[in-house]
Amino acid sequence: MSRFFSHKYDKLTPYVPGEQPRDRSYIKLNTNESPFPPSPRAQARAAEAAKTLQLYCDPECTALVEKIAEMKGLKPDQVLLGNGSDETLYLSFLAYCDRDTPAIFPDITYGFYKVFAESLNLPYVTVPLEADFSIDHKAYLNCGKTVFIANPNAPTGQLLTLAQIREIADSNPGNAVIIDEAYIDFGGESAVALLDTCENLLVTQTFSKSRSLAGGRLGMIFGSQAMINDLKTIKYSINPYNVNTVTQAAGLGALEDEDYTRANCEIIKENRSFTTRQLRSLGFAVADSYANFVLAAHPAVPGGELYAGLKSRGILVRYFNTDRLRPYVRITIGTKQEMESLLGAVKEILEEAQ
Ligand code: PMP
Repeated sequence: MSRFFSHKYDKLTPYVPGEQPRDRSYIKLNTNESPFPPSPRAQARAAEAAKTLQLYCDPECTALVEKIAEMKGLKPDQVLLGNGSDETLYLSFLAYCDRDTPAIFPDITYGFYKVFAESLNLPYVTVPLEADFSIDHKAYLNCGKTVFIANPNAPTGQLLTLAQIREIADSNPGNAVIIDEAYIDFGGESAVALLDTCENLLVTQTFSKSRSLAGGRLGMIFGSQAMINDLKTIKYSINPYNVNTVTQAAGLGALEDEDYTRANCEIIKENRSFTTRQLRSLGFAVADSYANFVLAAHPAVPGGELYAGLKSRGILVRYFNTDRLRPYVRITIGTKQEMESLLGAVKEILEEAQ
């Protein structure tokens, strides 16, 4: 670091994105992307939109917001878009946490929550997941903090019910409750259904997973008009043009092709069942996942070794070198062929370990 870097960042450990090595071609099962390309409609609209890049983009994302609002049964002023849902989450930390209002989230969850809190010097509390990696929803009742919960959670793939989310929101009337639904299209019920009755609730979703637009960086956040206005106040103070023209167009194209998204989600869910069954038959512990990944551990091969063995065979998975996750690897669900290659490589690694 340079000698000019503010000391307020002395202890900051930045988020580490999943690796993207370029040394050879890999089967990429490490960052929960879709194995399918963006829909043809999304690609066509993006190409067309590229012709007008000399102009600033629409800061309100009007056409896309209207389409999303219609599809979700919301009013356009209940929707805000971001540069990935990462940005909508970041805006929420900025808007709803401060020295007197800490954030609270599970100890094992999306790693960015902790980084957002630390980079902004915000206090936060983590709640340990239960032994089976489920979220102890009771720990969030009457907690008086700004709640961040990924549902399904990552990297565990486990769900809270809508009734549990409602209980959390209702018991914290003085605080914002943010439900991160990055993986909701692969399982579970969306808390968007609760927005009518929970005025403190915000729900984020993304185009990165089910809609194959991770590289486009497009996220959404839904809430009351008043809360969305809070977030707009922050957005317009940082980066009004946060979603570029090509991405807005690609997003609209993706929504015009919802059949494509739905069909892809069904394939991922089938491949998830297949992979879970196969891994279990090889002796892995794999909890049922409601996301586009599974978290798997084998009694004979620790996560780090599995990760390294797979990487040397051209397959990338995610390994978290932390106390409770060390036995595990997180495997993104890809095409059937990709999952068969993964399982073949896993068998080789297990045979070598015997
Ligand atoms: N929430 C969770 C739980 C995630 O796993 C991710 C991406 N890895 C995100 C949010 C952010 O996704 P994006 O910014 O691509 O929308």
